[in-house]
Amino acid sequence: MALIKVSHLNKIYRMGDTAVKALDDISLEIERGEFLAIMGPSGSGKSTLMHVLGLLDMPDSGTYAFEGKTLTFSADKALAGLRSRKLGFIFQQFHLMKRTSALDNVLLPGIYLGSKDQKNHAQKLLGKVGLGDRLSHKSSELSGGQQQRVAIARSLLNSPAVIFADEPSGNLDSKSEEEIMALLCELNAAGITIIMVTHEEELKKLATRVIKMRDGKILSDERNKPINYDPRVKEDPLLGQIENLQRPNFLTMLFVFFGQALKSLLANKVRSFLSMLGILIGVASVIAMLALGAGAKVSIEKQLATLGTNLLSVRPGPDRHMGVSSEAVTATFTVDDGERLKREVSGIASLAPSVSGRVQAVYRERNTNTRVLGTTPEYSSMRAAPAQLGRFFTDQENIDRARVALIGKTIATNLFAGKNPIGETLRLNRINFQIIGVLQERGAGAFGDQDDIIIIPIHTAMYRLLGKTSVDSFDVEVKDRDNMENVSSSILRYFAVKNHITGNPEDSLTVRNYADIQSAVSQTSKIMSLLLAIIALISLVVGGIGIMNIMLVSVTERTREIGIRMAVGARRADILLQFIIEAIFTSFIGGLMGIALGVLASSLIGIFSGWEIIVTTGSVLLATLFSVVVGVIFGYWPALKASRLSAIEAIRFE
Ligand code: ADP
Repeated sequence: MALIKVSHLNKIYRMGDTAVKALDDISLEIERGEFLAIMGPSGSGKSTLMHVLGLLDMPDSGTYAFEGKTLTFSADKALAGLRSRKLGFIFQQFHLMKRTSALDNVLLPGIYLGSKDQKNHAQKLLGKVGLGDRLSHKSSELSGGQQQRVAIARSLLNSPAVIFADEPSGNLDSKSEEEIMALLCELNAAGITIIMVTHEEELKKLATRVIKMRDGKILSDERNKPINYDPRVKEDPLLGQIENLQRPNFLTMLFVFFGQALKSLLANKVRSFLSMLGILIGVASVIAMLALGAGAKVSIEKQLATLGTNLLSVRPGPDRHMGVSSEAVTATFTVDDGERLKREVSGIASLAPSVSGRVQAVYRERNTNTRVLGTTPEYSSMRAAPAQLGRFFTDQENIDRARVALIGKTIATNLFAGKNPIGETLRLNRINFQIIGVLQERGAGAFGDQDDIIIIPIHTAMYRLLGKTSVDSFDVEVKDRDNMENVSSSILRYFAVKNHITGNPEDSLTVRNYADIQSAVSQTSKIMSLLLAIIALISLVVGGIGIMNIMLVSVTERTREIGIRMAVGARRADILLQFIIEAIFTSFIGGLMGIALGVLASSLIGIFSGWEIIVTTGSVLLATLFSVVVGVIFGYWPALKASRLSAIEAIRFE
């Protein structure tokens, strides 16, 4: 049975209007152990025939049987499998991987071949071709003859049945040529079939058979000498067929490709970093935005949690959030209304009216503009605003319109700078107040600085300081949570009667549950962080496009490498996987740096602004996931482009 049998091979290249018949109805049988020289003038179709025989290129028509089995040219897996297990290649230009050691070059086919001790085998092969002392030399550090010997060692790693040699000595001096030819003869004697393209007449004598071509046809086919292969005598253990080899599993492949991705990343550090920059900034902003959002949410919740859940806020006018515009009169509240509500509406535990306004607070030569709040002593417990130092004012002081004040932490710090303010006299809009307490710290938050405040009795505020005749709002604490609705409607009804409101009382005043306010606020902050996150995601997409750009450049640059990989047995799917992994790896590393930058940036924002910042594991995971997804999505196209090339197109790519 012939090792290779091809029948009626045709291949036509079309260049514009002209069609070149590179293969014109070629039929050929090649025996095991043959040393076949394909000769003929330039352009006669020698290389095309060899590339088709070597499964690097496809004919337009014709059949091909290897070891008696007919091949399907579209079955990439099967063809790659044959290239990987049975075929070896040597090219005129050597086609080694640049910047890669001799040993790693020889090991390249092993990625797709899979066997245990390849390293040892590869070292021995390099020894056999006379390069045992050049294992770690890069290909650029070797002479032409040495490079071709590395290529021969590479072609031997899979113990091939056939070696295809495309003008193997075309780029070599005559001494190197002799050495390379001697090596090929030795391999042939050991049973490896050699198919060599050459135009050097004197090499004819080495071959067992010489085929001459012209215009895509075989002109002559002569046998020089008999095939001298004797399997019993010529068995070289180094060249022995590797049987039952398992292709490496997916995980091993992944591992190898990650290693290569790291190498190529390190080989182009600046470029890789620049391509990562987009992802880096995108991820960093996602992390920082989410940290800010989460921090804001938590600080709002903390503030509102201190208020209790059974508080109602009663304000004049319709609910601004509902956007109602009506002709209805706005209700007015008085301190007296508060007293009457307490008496008349059952279910109210306590009630605090309040008025507020801005005042100029002066202590000696220092002054500040701040908010003053007038209220009753109930406010302290209802709104969780106890005096940390000193005391709250009393009902009697309220009735007496006493000029006493409690100040917030910010005022204490700004005006008294560490000095105990209790008992000091503070001027509010030129009226002297005696400080009787300092309020417990509440912290900065979504509503601004909660400690920049002065609390005084409501009567004092209305009649002495702010000149107000009505109350701004009531805080109402309901005894029983389940009774909130009833109390709300009783309050509405009270003001409807008192103010002679004929229409819907809710157009004249608003009774709101603090729990509702709480959810409205957290809703707003959720929307804010969502918007910020969307902006951050957009920057991630832009980052992904950067990666795609670099991957496209990289694929173009490394097209020859892709061809070599295919020649030594890579499937299209392997090429696809390799480049996708490279893209993922690039964006993943960018993502990691982005996470670091995001955490750093948000901590800095936290330190300088005093806002609460919370970096959640969720946001880190999200960012990581996103950078990987970006890698897959934007790496896919360049990778697909790479994997679609035919091996010989890729190898010849300039
Ligand atoms: P040889 O190896 O004998 O010099 P080739 O097999 O390389 O010849 O080429 C045979 C013919 O096919 C030549 O005329 C060449 O110009 C043409 N040819 C080879 N490859 C291509 C290609 N990729 N595109 C167009 N024409 C090609």
